[in-house]
Amino acid sequence: MHTSDTLYALSTPTKIGKVILVGAGPGDPDLLTVKALRVIQQADAIIYDRLVSDEIIALFRPHSQLIFVGKQAGNHCVPQQQINNLLVEHALAGKQVVRLKGGDPFIFGRGGEELEALLPFNIPFEVVPGITAASGCAAYAGIPLTHRDHAQSVQFITGHLKQGQDQIDWLSLARAKHTLVFYMGLNQSSVIRHKLSAYGMSLTTPIAIIERGTTIHQRVLTGELAQIDILAQQAASPALIIIGSVTQLSQQLNWFQQQTDSMTHIEQCIELYG
Ligand code: SAH
Repeated sequence: MHTSDTLYALSTPTKIGKVILVGAGPGDPDLLTVKALRVIQQADAIIYDRLVSDEIIALFRPHSQLIFVGKQAGNHCVPQQQINNLLVEHALAGKQVVRLKGGDPFIFGRGGEELEALLPFNIPFEVVPGITAASGCAAYAGIPLTHRDHAQSVQFITGHLKQGQDQIDWLSLARAKHTLVFYMGLNQSSVIRHKLSAYGMSLTTPIAIIERGTTIHQRVLTGELAQIDILAQQAASPALIIIGSVTQLSQQLNWFQQQTDSMTHIEQCIELYG
C-alpha cells in the first residue's frame, strides 16, 4: 500500500484539520509577526525545527503538542518524508497544526515541498511569511542590502553547492553593484571565493559573515573576499555570508552591536559600583 493510502486508511473520519506553515524569523522573538504569534498560541500541535529559537519556543502554550524535527538521537535530521507524514497524520486527526520554521518558510525552507505533500489529502493550509535571515541579519548588522550608492539589486543564494555540479550563473553573480547573500555557505567559502574571482569579482570586495544574527549572540565578522575562508573558519552556524560594498556600511550603522555593547558596559558598571 502507498504511504499516503496507509495514512488515509488509519485516519478516522473526524473533521479534517489544517496546516499552517509559519515563518519564525531569524531568532529575535520580537521579529515574529503578530499573525505568527496568534496561530502559534492557538495550535493543537507545533512541528518545529532546529532554527526556531528558545525564546520563541518559550511562547508556545502548554496545551499544544510539541514535535521537534530538528535532530534525532544520533544527530540526524528527521527525513523530509517523515516530516511530511507527520503533517498529514496530525491534520487528518482533525488538529490545527503549525509547522514552524526558521526565517521564511518559502526561502530555502522546503515549505513548498511540505505543502505539496498535503495536496493528495485535500488538507487545507495557510502560509504565514517570516522575516528571512537575509533581512533580519542585515538589518541587525547595519547592512542595507540595497543602497543607491552601492547596490541596485540583491540575490539570495544557497551555499549547498555540489562542487562541479552547481547550476549557478557565477558570471551574473560577479557583476558590479549587486549584493550577494549566501545561506548555508560557511563550508563552501573557498568555492565561493574561487568562482567569484574567476568570473571577475575583485578579491578586495568587502564581505561580512553574520553569525546567530538578531540574537544577543550575534557576531559580525567583516573583511574582504580574499579573507572569506579565514572568516568562515572563525564563524559558527547558523551564519550568513554577505558579499558587496554595502557591507562596509556596517561600521557606522551597526546599531544593534552598539546597543548590546552599551548594555554590557552598564552591566559591568553595576557589577563594579553596585
Ligand atoms: N528559511 C530560512 C533559511 C533556512 S536555511 C530563512 O528564511 O531564513 C538555513 C540557513 O539560514 C543557515 O545555514 C544560515 O545561513 C541562515 N540563517 C538562519 N538563521 C540565521 C541567523 N539567525 N543568523 C545567521 N544566519 C541564519
